[in-house]
Amino acid sequence: MELVEMFDLVRSHPILATVTMFAGTALASELLWKAIQYARRHTRRRRVHEVLFFNELGEVCLDHHRGKSFTNTNDCRNSHCSLRSLEKIAVLMDEAQYSIDIAIYTFTSNTLWLALKRALQRGVSIRVISDREMVYCNSSKIQEMAAFGVPVRGPFKTNLIMHHKFCVIDGLARVQEILQVKQRKWPRPYESVLISGSVNWTNTGFGANYENCTISSDEILTRQYQEEFNRMWKFFADTAEKFLKSCVEKSE
Ligand SMILES: [Zn+2]
Repeated sequence: MELVEMFDLVRSHPILATVTMFAGTALASELLWKAIQYARRHTRRRRVHEVLFFNELGEVCLDHHRGKSFTNTNDCRNSHCSLRSLEKIAVLMDEAQYSIDIAIYTFTSNTLWLALKRALQRGVSIRVISDREMVYCNSSKIQEMAAFGVPVRGPFKTNLIMHHKFCVIDGLARVQEILQVKQRKWPRPYESVLISGSVNWTNTGFGANYENCTISSDEILTRQYQEEFNRMWKFFADTAEKFLKSCVEKSE
């Protein structure tokens, strides 16, 4: 039977036409549902919810790692391994697609700076808010970041200390802002992640202190931290040049 004849038969037969119409609608909605699921799966990366604790057990495995590549702590049996915890944070930075907004009191960790450098090379937008005194502490990475073109702001006009230790990776509002500037409608798959806790990004913080660091993809938390970062970023708007000038002077 020719295809045209089949259509004529279906059209001329009311029951057959109704059944075909229902089957067609069911198939279309099934396809639509599959398409929505596919889109959801492919616009989100993995979700994370975890707390990292740094304590006296963090470095008992240090000999095991000595001399090995840093990016291979998976075989460590120490569940408190400081190196592995630090590596987890670096991996999250490696997964950043659009933005990393950092509010940090002290930053001297070379591992995290290397991860941030890789992010910069991928075109990820990084912004830093730091304390006006701690920026210039020994081995501060903030000056290196400024030299790399990362905008740095901080509390020059208040006596308050910028004591935060948080970072928002691919915060929704920030990603939308970047997409708008780039005139892109559809984002690559990304996941908003908050990293926040007591730990400063220093060797002491990650190895020699009792500290905590919460990692979360929670929508409410990531949104609230991103909002506070954006608010501070605006409030410190006129400090960017001062920071850059002082950083350049100090590094000379
Ligand atoms: Zn270990």
